[in-house]
Amino acid sequence: MDLKDQIVKLPFVGPTYVKRLEKLGIVTVEDLIFHFPFRYDDFSLISPIFRVQVGETVTITGIVEKITNTFTKTGKRMQMAIISDKTGSLEAIWFNQMYLLSSFKKNELYNFSGKVEWFGHKKVLMSPEYERIVQSCQPTTIHTGRLVPIYNETYGVSSKWLRSRIKTALDLVGEKLEEFLPAELTKKENLLPEKTAIEQIHFPQNKSLAQKAKYRLAFDELFLIQLASLLRKKEWETKTLGKQFFIDFEKSMKFVENLPFTLTSAQKRCIKEILLDLQKNVPMNRLLQGDVGSGKTVVAALAAYTAFLNNSDTLFMAPTEILANQHYNTLKSLLEPFGVPVELITGSNKSSKSLVTNHQSPSKVIVGTHALLYQNFNPEKVGLVIVDEQHRFGVEQRALLSQKGKAPHFLTMTATPIPRTIALTMYNDLDLSLLDEMPPGRTSVRTWVVPKEKRQKAYEWIRSKIKNTPEQAFIICPFIEESETMSTVKAATKEYEVLQKEVFPDLRLGLLHGRMKAKEKEQVLKSFREGDLDILVATPVVEVGIDISNATIMLIEAADHFGLAQLHQLRGRVGRGKLQSYCLLFADDTSATSLKRLKNLETIANGMQLSEIDLKLRGPGEIYGTAQHGFADLRVASFTDLELIQKTRSAASQVLNSHPSLLTANSALKKRLDKYKISTITN
Ligand code: ADP
Ligand code: MG
Repeated sequence: MDLKDQIVKLPFVGPTYVKRLEKLGIVTVEDLIFHFPFRYDDFSLISPIFRVQVGETVTITGIVEKITNTFTKTGKRMQMAIISDKTGSLEAIWFNQMYLLSSFKKNELYNFSGKVEWFGHKKVLMSPEYERIVQSCQPTTIHTGRLVPIYNETYGVSSKWLRSRIKTALDLVGEKLEEFLPAELTKKENLLPEKTAIEQIHFPQNKSLAQKAKYRLAFDELFLIQLASLLRKKEWETKTLGKQFFIDFEKSMKFVENLPFTLTSAQKRCIKEILLDLQKNVPMNRLLQGDVGSGKTVVAALAAYTAFLNNSDTLFMAPTEILANQHYNTLKSLLEPFGVPVELITGSNKSSKSLVTNHQSPSKVIVGTHALLYQNFNPEKVGLVIVDEQHRFGVEQRALLSQKGKAPHFLTMTATPIPRTIALTMYNDLDLSLLDEMPPGRTSVRTWVVPKEKRQKAYEWIRSKIKNTPEQAFIICPFIEESETMSTVKAATKEYEVLQKEVFPDLRLGLLHGRMKAKEKEQVLKSFREGDLDILVATPVVEVGIDISNATIMLIEAADHFGLAQLHQLRGRVGRGKLQSYCLLFADDTSATSLKRLKNLETIANGMQLSEIDLKLRGPGEIYGTAQHGFADLRVASFTDLELIQKTRSAASQVLNSHPSLLTANSALKKRLDKYKISTITN
């Protein structure tokens, strides 16, 4: 058996389990052994029966004298076993586990691990884990009598089941785990060998080894991520560039002077950084990060103008058709006065226009969704690619583009605030430009966490603000699962109906969710934009960057299910005009901690600051686990561990510079890196 074998090859894993395991992201045997526990039950205290104390979590070893079924006072089925060893006997009880009655063999030794509690007047072992002791050579238990790993589970896959399959897998393929770090590095950093670390993270001999195992695996994780991104950077930089732009400062100045506003100093700084990149002979790979409304579009427009002046096309990609439309209109008004043709190509607007242009045809800016990349364009002519709000910040797009030929300059834009530690780890192949300043005159969105009992009042207040006025409101529906599923769509639809019938019968409501057809969405948004609707009920996935200047109220249901940075992005959909805007947050969980967290939004208007709080309070998985952002979840390491991030970063660049031989095609390191999509550019 091999690490890369499909999981079905493992004994006792049939098609049913294959399906279930897929939900945990486990497809190969390797995936299974890299499914690490997130905590342990400490069953390592082994005690003779006569010594067990109420309140202790212990393991006893004995034979089952008797097991019977009885009923509790409330009528629950209860299984009761008498366990004895040389020193005495003790009862163990379970509830509703009828199969236990035939699970124990006579006169065989079993371990029982669990908590000792009072049950009436009796001292009992409450719902213990149990495991037969096989008397062969060395008894190694995995469910009892030790630190017992607890895993992320899914329907039909328990930690107990995972333990036994992981044990088997380790026995069968453990030997195939080749050390991939250079010996001097493991020595210098005092790291366990990888194989030991993996064995010990699942079945640790003691707490200190569990810690060391975790450290080694966290090291690996951060090291590999950073090495992968350093490699991407290196590959990107060695691409020969077709287009080294000449910067026409005079024309650029004209463009800037012609804007209806003065650029913020942050915008000026970002423009300078971008223009400097564009005149290099290395393709730009830059991330432009700035809160919603910080003015990214004009920065991008100037870059596109520069491309035009250099006889190059710009591809401008938005995440949805609606946003593509919006960008198209903005770019047209910014660029057409300077003679730059701007075109829109989307699925519902399949013009006969071909993207294939030749060197003689005039350059243009082509706006569309990400599907643009799959169109047949002339890669020689495309000098700049701008991507708005793309998962993983353009890694796939870059890969696709460079397959088509030479690498163009690449600008990714995002309103997602990325904490510094995350940027350092995941995206150190990107250069970063930060729009950390809002255009002047913006009023911040006044935000309240609304207590439950004030719901009706809040509704009345909303009515008073929007009825017979140009102002409008968004109501964002509970959205609890990771992505928009049929059930969340149903919930939104239901909420919409209730609101329309019972709460706001006198107002005009519209509904918007991700499962609607593009045309329907377009229609609803158009009505909202034109003021034919007062309230738009929507799910949170819809159109983050939508620009509707009369929308002044944002009500978010079940706000406690979101990260603060996400809520901040949602609230960025209001406050886009001159009117004072408001954000109202309702929570499902109204505990003090939950409300305290949400209240940060009342006082903090800076996305980056909010995301740092998220990172501290909830961890990166929680913030970025949503399908929207595609930040990889770390399994063991933590984005808050700045020290390890820095250590692994320098280790990665050292390996890259002084051990290039470790990266040859079939090396253990290269194999490990594959999981991190090391070479999205050449593969
Ligand atoms: P983002 O894409 O970062 O969310 P936009 O580029 O859509 O933001 O800009 C938001 C709004 O602010 C637009 O209406 C834009 O015209 C305006 N804007 C951009 N820069 C400035 C500025 N320096 N001063 C005033 N308004 C600006
Ligand atoms: Mg925008």
